Amino acid sequence: MSLPCNLTQPQENEYLNCIRCGLCLAVCPTYRVYKTETSSPRGRVALARKNLEGELELTPNLAEQMYACLDCLACNDICPVGIRPADLALEMRHVQEQIRPSGWKDTLFGELIAKPGRMKTATLPLRIYQSSGLRRLVYTLHLRRLLPARLRDLEGMLPHLPRRPLRRVLPEVTKAHSKSRYRVGFFLGCAQSLLFADESAATVRVLARNGCTVITPRDTVCCGMPAAGYGRMDLAKAHARFNIALFEKTETDVIVTDCATCGSKLKEYGQMLADEPEWVERAAAFSAKVRDISEFLMSIPLEKPAGRIEARVTYHDPCHLRRAQKVWQQPRALMQFIDGVDFVELPESDWCCGSAGSQLITHYETSLAVLERKMDNLKSTGAEMVASGCPGCQMQLTTGIKRRQMDVKVVHPIVLLDQAYAAEENSQ
Ligand code: SF4
Ligand code: SF4
Repeated sequence: MSLPCNLTQPQENEYLNCIRCGLCLAVCPTYRVYKTETSSPRGRVALARKNLEGELELTPNLAEQMYACLDCLACNDICPVGIRPADLALEMRHVQEQIRPSGWKDTLFGELIAKPGRMKTATLPLRIYQSSGLRRLVYTLHLRRLLPARLRDLEGMLPHLPRRPLRRVLPEVTKAHSKSRYRVGFFLGCAQSLLFADESAATVRVLARNGCTVITPRDTVCCGMPAAGYGRMDLAKAHARFNIALFEKTETDVIVTDCATCGSKLKEYGQMLADEPEWVERAAAFSAKVRDISEFLMSIPLEKPAGRIEARVTYHDPCHLRRAQKVWQQPRALMQFIDGVDFVELPESDWCCGSAGSQLITHYETSLAVLERKMDNLKSTGAEMVASGCPGCQMQLTTGIKRRQMDVKVVHPIVLLDQAYAAEENSQ
């Protein structure tokens, strides 16, 4: 049975040229765990092809293989003939959504994640859990060990939450400390605003210190990655159009983000809206301005901090920074710019940590199996800190560290630079 012709679906050239060489198997985290063909990129390409050619139904089992992909992009990078299995898996999720729409995704991505005010309300119980002292009590009395393992892991990944989302606290315009040399739009992602507000506050301080006037639009909505990851390209495109129009009003030279996932999606807006005449140029112009914070800072004359950070630090590459944006040297350079940092490479630093946004919730065993290897590698470095510029990776690493009871701190690279500037001020 062939698929209805009005569906948006992958083109033949996205799967026909697979020569079944198997190179992608060697880099695939899900294949490494399960060692089955269907859990590999090559298997996913074959399944997609059989479905698109009408030989296999798009059953829940087939769709599940597409959802089990971590979207780590390692297979895209290695394929010698240009097949992009990771992209194909996402497109197949989109095909499934068109055939069998899941109503809850409209609510989650359209009515909740796209509405910052509602996100704030939805996360209120977590803030109460923390600010009421209940969380401290749970830790002090060692009550976490009474929780079922999965719930304990999810609790453990929670960072220290801000009292208010940073989008509500940051001024829309932060002036440069000295002469303003750059007008920078700051894309403050949802997770950064709601969960990692301290990091993004550090980002803005570092930018302002380095001659940037920082414009942070309050009404920014989700970058679109979660909706796209669950097959709702329509909602992801709606988020993209909204953000583009919003940032056009800021008239900035560059758009910076400190979230690897947001950055990779923002850089795709041009491609996502390429077939919409009204948006194609605006989206391309927007994407061309987007920079990861480390990418931007290492492209300008960065002020050397006089303060020191005395710590052995390693670095985990977020897939959506290293593979999607090809940004991997800059975060390392940024940290090694700070005196006192004893930087040590993490073995397999570019292997996925198993987070992939929500895999610890949706594919718990797989996510943990992938994480365990990351933890073995982390332990081998003897590092006191592991840096990573992605909220999902940071939470996943935190879970792994708590499970192993390791004494390692998870940080965003920008926080180290901010602390080095602060250390210098404190010593004056
Ligand atoms: S997807 Fe690419 S790397 Fe993987 S088997 Fe096919 S041709 Fe080889
Ligand atoms: S994106 Fe990663 S997890 Fe998904 S098929 Fe490719 S290598 Fe495997």
